[in-house]
Amino acid sequence: MAEQIQTSLISCHRFSNLSGIDGLVHGVFTRHGGVSQPPYATLNVAWNNGDRPEAVQENLRRVKQSVGMGMLVSTCQVHGDIIRLVDSEAISRAKVRDPVLIMQSGDALVSSLRGVGLLIKTADCQAVFLVDPMKGVIANIHCGWRGSVADLPAKVVSLLKDRFGCNPKDLYAAISPSLGPCCAEFRNFQKELPRSFLPFQSRPLHFDFWRITRSQLTNAGVPPVNIETAERCTVCETDRFFSYRREGNTGRNAAVIGWAE
Ligand SMILES: [Zn+2]
Repeated sequence: MAEQIQTSLISCHRFSNLSGIDGLVHGVFTRHGGVSQPPYATLNVAWNNGDRPEAVQENLRRVKQSVGMGMLVSTCQVHGDIIRLVDSEAISRAKVRDPVLIMQSGDALVSSLRGVGLLIKTADCQAVFLVDPMKGVIANIHCGWRGSVADLPAKVVSLLKDRFGCNPKDLYAAISPSLGPCCAEFRNFQKELPRSFLPFQSRPLHFDFWRITRSQLTNAGVPPVNIETAERCTVCETDRFFSYRREGNTGRNAAVIGWAE
């Protein structure tokens, strides 16, 4: 029997490996439960893709309320490898755009603050959550293929080690619904992707970026058993998630992680 999708309700994908961590809140929101009109229907959380600002604001309010965070922090994502530390000093300098705070541009957010939700926006790119329950540190990474080429997940693990004294063995990781090996066709892979990605071809011209991220994290010391992949392809599931590859001009899904206050 086909699963019924209640398009009026806000809903999100949650990971079992993160669900047991005390005080942690997380979710990758579907496209449902917002107020935006097509082609952004309905829970679009990006300001810069042509949607009405009033609709985006209301969608973000719903996301913020759903996760129960006093503060929601985002960044201008640019497919680079800059990591932004979200501490009280950075928050004081962030741009206020109710109901979110916007950090300087970057593609990863790291924080140890309570009550602060880290928001990454995606349409086919991965949001990668990292959690160190021992040190109380979290990260939310925007990782498209350029992030994968830049080894961004491993760079964030390095920063967690250097800045917070995290042991990679204590880290838990989760890879959001995103472009799957079924749909990740790279016709120009010889120009765009390094040779080290060749073993991750699922069939000619197709690459498994879920396994690439998993491999980058395990190479950085994260135990394989601590890494969970949603294994949901956003291109295949456009009834639930926004997909840039499938739809072109469309909305962005919200991926949020934070420590409850
Ligand atoms: Zn697919």
